[in-house]
Amino acid sequence: MSQLDRDLPAEALISGGEASLDGLYTPEGADLLLDLRLESVVEGVLATGRVSGSLVAECVRCLDPVEVEVDADFQELFYYDLEDLSAEELEEAVSVVEDLLDVEALVRDALVLELPLQPLCEPDCPGLCPECGAALAEDPEHHHDSVDPRWAALSALSEDSEPAEQ
Ligand SMILES: [Zn+2]
Ligand SMILES: [Zn+2]
Repeated sequence: MSQLDRDLPAEALISGGEASLDGLYTPEGADLLLDLRLESVVEGVLATGRVSGSLVAECVRCLDPVEVEVDADFQELFYYDLEDLSAEELEEAVSVVEDLLDVEALVRDALVLELPLQPLCEPDCPGLCPECGAALAEDPEHHHDSVDPRWAALSALSEDSEPAEQ
């Protein structure tokens, strides 16, 4: 059995891979610690670990940077040999490939499950003015006197627009 604790390069987790965190989270300002235990069992290597720390995202409403805390546990058995597994087990199974374990993918999956898909700087972040893009949190009185009706119709069509304030 071996154990390791180390700082995790966030670049490796955020860029690339199927369960990519690209677009939402950035490697800058990330601070992740990996705590990993590897145990040799009959079928393969059992990897148990925890990834904790923080990542930086963009608030989906106002685009301000948001620091998101994470603390995710994971466990995976890396099989030496996949031949004896049932079809159902095979779908989820990972194996030891040329004596290497893809721990990155494991950590990334654990993070994806844990991190919010819609990070917000504040739960009630008012976002940006749909007309001029001003940050409404900094200027709660912000409004426009005249709303061009053609523009109002357009903003009603855009997916996540909020009703225009009068
Ligand atoms: Zn925000
Ligand atoms: Zn405005």
